[in-house]
Amino acid sequence: MQVIEKISDIQAVLSGHWNNKTSIGFVPTMGALHNGHLSLIKNAGKENDLVVCSIFVNPVQFNNKEDFKSYPRDIQSDLNILEKVKCDIVFHPSAEEMYPGPVDGRFDFGDLDKVMEGAHRPGHFNGVAIVVSKLFDIVKPARAYFGLKDFQQLVIIYRLVKDHNIPVEIVPCTTVREEDGLAMSSRNKLLGKTERRHAVLLYKSLKMAKVQSGYLPVAQLKKMIEESFRHDKVMKLEYFEIVDMLTLKPIKLWSESKQVVACIAAYAGNIRLIDNLVIFS
Ligand code: AMP
Repeated sequence: MQVIEKISDIQAVLSGHWNNKTSIGFVPTMGALHNGHLSLIKNAGKENDLVVCSIFVNPVQFNNKEDFKSYPRDIQSDLNILEKVKCDIVFHPSAEEMYPGPVDGRFDFGDLDKVMEGAHRPGHFNGVAIVVSKLFDIVKPARAYFGLKDFQQLVIIYRLVKDHNIPVEIVPCTTVREEDGLAMSSRNKLLGKTERRHAVLLYKSLKMAKVQSGYLPVAQLKKMIEESFRHDKVMKLEYFEIVDMLTLKPIKLWSESKQVVACIAAYAGNIRLIDNLVIFS
């Protein structure tokens, strides 16, 4: 496994592969790796000749400085984990390497980034698009692997590659969960014992939404979830939305859409977590 920090170095290594038509599978991450990330890397290994994983905590996608500072980082442990799977190249650039000058770039995602994460984290998806398009340009992968855990991000990445004609196949990967259902996340490492115990309320709410979707109107279901968070002393709900899977538009009636996903963001103490579950498709 090669660990590379410079853009010119990784491009020198990859250029031989581009010419050979080696298929490159790419997994962009922010590190603090867990089994969710590993499932993406394993999928990339099955479907490609060469696997590249990037580890870069992208400052441009954080709208909150404290969140950026406290984001878990452990490159040595990440490299030890990656040694054990099929990962050929780790790209681990510094912020100066990725952004040597002022960062610009405005992406238009229509209404896709006006709701949920986009509404609560202004500029977040623009920052994601800046780094992902830059990484795609550096690595030029045949396929790139993204988790369904970040559902809105995935929809926006599809839009990004379509609008900008980026020749990469986006491969969506199933959300990997802890035994109690909590979606694996680097931020879970920041949870205290009590917060960790209560954090399962996100998944419980999504499961409850799926079960009740056959019985309750959308508005009543949303009220029920909001109520269950009001009764929890540790958890604070930021949003619970039921949206069309393609447009991300919140629905008022079940009959409005044929493919529906429930998305949730909540704080466990100070730690912000997100999750989602397909209700029907
Ligand atoms: P991150 O390091 O959080 O930016 O995540 C890197 C990639 O891993 C993204 O495509 C995420 O959607 C994906 N990912 C994060 N958590 C999970 C999970 N629990 N299951 C599957 N994929 C995940």
